[in-house]
Amino acid sequence: MKYHIFLPALLLIVLQGCVYYFEDDFAKVPKVDSHIHINSDDGVFEEIAAADNFILISLNVDHGDSASVRKQYEYAVASVQKHPGRVFFGPTFYFDTAGWGTEEWSSKIIAQLDKDLSAPGAVTVKIWKNIGMVLRDRSGKFIMVDDPGLDPVVNFIKGKGFPITGHLGEPRNCWLPLAEMTVRSDSSYFARNPQYHMYLHPEYPSYEDQINARDRFLENNPDLTFIGCHLGSLEWNVDSLAKRLDKFPNMAVDMSARICHLQYQALTNRKKVRDFCIKYQDRLLYGTDVGYGGSNNPEAFKKRMHETWLDDWKFFTSSLMMTSDKFDGKFAGLKLPRKVVDKIYFKNAVKWYKLKI
Ligand SMILES: [Zn+2]
Repeated sequence: MKYHIFLPALLLIVLQGCVYYFEDDFAKVPKVDSHIHINSDDGVFEEIAAADNFILISLNVDHGDSASVRKQYEYAVASVQKHPGRVFFGPTFYFDTAGWGTEEWSSKIIAQLDKDLSAPGAVTVKIWKNIGMVLRDRSGKFIMVDDPGLDPVVNFIKGKGFPITGHLGEPRNCWLPLAEMTVRSDSSYFARNPQYHMYLHPEYPSYEDQINARDRFLENNPDLTFIGCHLGSLEWNVDSLAKRLDKFPNMAVDMSARICHLQYQALTNRKKVRDFCIKYQDRLLYGTDVGYGGSNNPEAFKKRMHETWLDDWKFFTSSLMMTSDKFDGKFAGLKLPRKVVDKIYFKNAVKWYKLKI
């Protein structure tokens, strides 16, 4: 008789388990961190990824010289070799402005990319914010991503059937005074790095210039698969991002380093953020943007990485009240349905990056 009392409650728990994930499911569910940077061959990042059931996509970045780009490539290739199926990567190219706009310039880059993309585990080409924010042509004009000089390289990548992964522009906060920035991670970064704080540099392209150049680039390349890093630099407002996702069906975005902006928006309108994640469930890729260059305390790194991944998991899968060290106030987790979580955490990365797993 007493089972009659518990049966409905038990049934509810079982049903909930079919629709939603719990914290305990974290390690059981296969996941992809679609935006990290491995610059070490000690295997520590890969170890914690295996323990927490993550596949990693390591993106190379053109933020130094050509030697730095080659070194990153070597780390990525070595990691793929040692951890096949666990690690994939996106090579990049060193954007040397000498010879920019000539056929020689693009032929050299294409030849290099052709080799790099033939390496096992290569799944995309990464382009970076130096396009639009640093590089200038001979006349001193900023080279934006929609510059026709890039067309041969873009056409080559498309022709090979690879996507382009682009970190273009910066968070909108970068163009605001420190006191108006929404998250502390931005205000502390730009306080320390005034050279990158665009509010102080009105002579540089504006936030809108960056977004417009990216949008024109996508208009000019409707057949290009494009993954916009960091919520496509539209992190501050899900409506603005939704507009681009509606307009560009071959565009997806990774959430790396910008989940705090979704949380910030959830402070005042959780439903809106949740509805956005459900509506665009096929276009969002989970990622963290954590970089690893070796550590003299690998256990501490692993612990931090695990906590970062688990905190994000709680935000997306539960309705727990949470806080962030990046802004004041409490917000509730989004408690997305399992099928949405499976896409954001796994299926979308597999599909958009054509991961062979
Ligand atoms: Zn990154």
